[in-house]
Amino acid sequence: MARKAADAAIGATKTALVEQARKHDRVLRLVDPKHTTMDCGQCGARAKHRLPLSERTYTCTACGAWSPRDKNSARVMLVRFQPG
Ligand SMILES: [Zn+2]
Repeated sequence: MARKAADAAIGATKTALVEQARKHDRVLRLVDPKHTTMDCGQCGARAKHRLPLSERTYTCTACGAWSPRDKNSARVMLVRFQPG
C-alpha cells in the first residue's frame, strides 16, 4: 500500500514537472533511476550492495571516492546525460 502511494506521488510529480517544463519552454530530461544510488559518480563502478538509507555517505570500493549519497547520485545522473 505504501509503495502504491509512493508510486502515485512520483507519477504526479513527474506529470507536474513535464507540464511546467512545457509551460515555461524548458528542457526536461528524465533519468532512469535504476542504480543511481549504487553507481559511483566518479568512476562509474557499481556497488555490489544497495546502501541502507541510514548510510548517508557513498564510498566507492573501486576508486575510493566518497561523497554525500545524494551528491553522488546527482553526479551519476549528470554523467548519464553527457552526450557521446
Ligand atoms: Zn569510483
